[in-house]
Amino acid sequence: MTPKDIMVSVIIPMFDEKSVVERTLNEVTTVLQQVTSSYEVIIVDDGSADGTFEEVARAHQSDPRIKGLRFSRNFGKEPAMMAGMVRAAGDVVVTMDGDLQHPPSLIPHMVSKWQEGAQIVHGVKSTRNYGGLFHRTAAKAFNNVFSRTAGINIVDSSDYKLFDADVARLLTREFPEQHRFHRGLSSWVGFRQESVEFEVAARPGGESRWSLYSLVRYGWNTLTSFTSLPLQLVPLMGLVMLIFSVVLGTEALISRINGNAISGFATIEITLLFTGSMLMIGLGVIGQYLARVYEELKKRPVYVVADELGFEQHNPSE
Ligand code: UDP
Ligand code: MG
Repeated sequence: MTPKDIMVSVIIPMFDEKSVVERTLNEVTTVLQQVTSSYEVIIVDDGSADGTFEEVARAHQSDPRIKGLRFSRNFGKEPAMMAGMVRAAGDVVVTMDGDLQHPPSLIPHMVSKWQEGAQIVHGVKSTRNYGGLFHRTAAKAFNNVFSRTAGINIVDSSDYKLFDADVARLLTREFPEQHRFHRGLSSWVGFRQESVEFEVAARPGGESRWSLYSLVRYGWNTLTSFTSLPLQLVPLMGLVMLIFSVVLGTEALISRINGNAISGFATIEITLLFTGSMLMIGLGVIGQYLARVYEELKKRPVYVVADELGFEQHNPSE
């Protein structure tokens, strides 16, 4: 296949990105036109309230290869990327952020890696010069913890990726999980994987919507849906406490035999409080996994599409 024959699908999730839609689409299509003559850009509007979809509709008027999906509400970036991948018709599928923090100029490099035989090409951040110090540190810490506990290396990884169409299909059809983690799944799935580095650009407009709360929640959900390590820590915690209690108990018994009455209300109080909190934490962790199981069991759709633009027909298998 000569480069010009490749059909490239680019999936861009957007949530309240009205201010950057036009610029992003211009830059992306300009790069795509250098790579191929057949492409599609699928903007997945994740429940924006600022008129993002209207901007997409305008862009679709001038270039029908720009397509749109609008969710019925905000479902999150993960479902948005999945929805785009499900609809993608290309030989390769690229997922990228809509705020130009993922430079479109990387796409030709990714495509050439694919032509050399890679089935997944990861965009890897060489710097992370955006967001506050807190955001950067938190993201780094999470990626490290995730990589260690789940046994999949996602340090410095991003959602900027290229997939061979077969792999993209597999990742959407064969992975029906509710709590998806694009970065984790695309590394876990195997195949021939390559990486290309890029510098994270500053956001040209709009703002990142990650609050401390949403970051912590996202991190915890991701971790618990990918690894059961926290669950395995519960019995470990119990074991440590058992050792503690044997040591303390023996000591108490010995002083008792020696005729020394055990004194110390503080010791009892601390032990009780400690035991209580460990029990609560253990129960809490188990509860969280139970919630995961419950959510997965309900088998609700991962997202709901309210509107679409530029797709020939609705795909009933979705
Ligand atoms: N995004 C989305 N749904 C959300 C949050 C974000 O589709 O609920 C999109 C957002 O419009 C952007 C991309 O995901 O295109 C990355 O989001 P953001 O820039 O806020 O994250 P950061 O770059 O700070 O990690
Ligand atoms: Mg961003």
